Amino acid sequence: MANVVVVGAQWGDEGKGKIVDWLSIEADIVVRFQGGHNAGHTLVIGNQTYKLALLPSGIVRPGKLSVIGNGVVVDPQHLVEEIAKLSGQGITITPENLKIAENVPLILGLHRELDAHRESSTVEGVKIGTTKRGIGPAYEDKVGRRAIRLMDLAEPDTLDQKIARLLAHHEPLRRGLGLEPISAAAIRAELEAVAPKVLPYMTATWDLLENARRAGKRILFEGAQGALLDIDHGTYPFVTSSNTVAANAATGSGLGPKSIGYVLGIAKAYTTRVGGGPFPTELNDEIGQLIGDRGHEYGVNTGRRRRCGWFDAVLTRQTVKTCGIDGIALTKLDILDGFAEIKVCVAYDLDGQRIDRLPGAQAAQARVKPIYETIEGWQGTTAGARSWADLPAQAIKYVRRIEELIEAPVALLSTSPERADTILVHDPFRD
Ligand code: IMP
Repeated sequence: MANVVVVGAQWGDEGKGKIVDWLSIEADIVVRFQGGHNAGHTLVIGNQTYKLALLPSGIVRPGKLSVIGNGVVVDPQHLVEEIAKLSGQGITITPENLKIAENVPLILGLHRELDAHRESSTVEGVKIGTTKRGIGPAYEDKVGRRAIRLMDLAEPDTLDQKIARLLAHHEPLRRGLGLEPISAAAIRAELEAVAPKVLPYMTATWDLLENARRAGKRILFEGAQGALLDIDHGTYPFVTSSNTVAANAATGSGLGPKSIGYVLGIAKAYTTRVGGGPFPTELNDEIGQLIGDRGHEYGVNTGRRRRCGWFDAVLTRQTVKTCGIDGIALTKLDILDGFAEIKVCVAYDLDGQRIDRLPGAQAAQARVKPIYETIEGWQGTTAGARSWADLPAQAIKYVRRIEELIEAPVALLSTSPERADTILVHDPFRD
């Protein structure tokens, strides 16, 4: 039995929530290892829809342990609200089924404010199109060694010193940006108000996970965002501020690299992205509009309309490599039902030269033109299919061609938001 990591193989929003929920039935523990409440995972279970941003998807399943690992940044205020929202939907969340790493950095009001301030800039190239949740500024403080971490709330005597270190950076920054000064007392009050609500969940999760691993428990690592938003391997600077690739499941939870068994990448049968940045196969026409309408391509979290385009096999092949993906879960194939023809990007043209990967430099990324292969579409529907026999022959051809191009097999095919509408080719836990 292998532990499984689920990662987005595109720019996020690939439908990870459903797949993680599907796999969580077989898992004992579900772990978030990066990102924060910038994620948006939608789970449809029976006639209930749950929208999660920070909590691991396992939280909706009784008997599963959910862990927020050290690689995550936690907004304690948001955490309390999300727990209250889900509790209102009948989900039980207690320190028994939710554990949070003692060393997670906290997102504070000043991080949210800084993020929003930068996003309101009119200076060319400053705007990234973030979720304005304070994710980037909180990670900056973590790396800058001035973050307030969850465990600090349990040591009130040392808090003032830590707040002073934080403000030694933020005060001059805020002054320079023309933001109102912020007092140490206000930050202390913000932390003290939330401390009793979040501290009960605090644990040395690295130890808990290692013990669970040794005891043969099955761990599911739940990635957020997508590999093309990775701080190192993504379309920098139009990325999020964490490592979204699969290897970070180890660092972000405090386990060794061998604790990861199977890497499952999730990819949509087409491509979407929210926020700014290069998107070679973007369709600014009625086809892009149609894909967006049919696929309900709006952000779970921010409500922003997602940019839509054809499947980009070059990019997905690249994320198969940067994540070490063993198999793909292909989602939303039904959105392409009824198209006369479907295009797939198989290479790029960069200044007249054919290339088979996305160049690293920002300007070159913006210049590449997709080289398409046209595939005949299919009549009839793939929606709700539960076996290969339910699929039109041409749809199977499309899936097979994608497998060839991205150099990874399709392990799962998801044909609707419903959990049962899934075709299983290979069970990731039985690597
Ligand atoms: P941040 O993570 O809020 O700093 O945003 C940085 C970039 O990542 C922006 O382009 C966001 O739109 C994108 N992003 C962050 N979270 C998600 C997500 O869950 N799905 C898709 N895009 C995301």
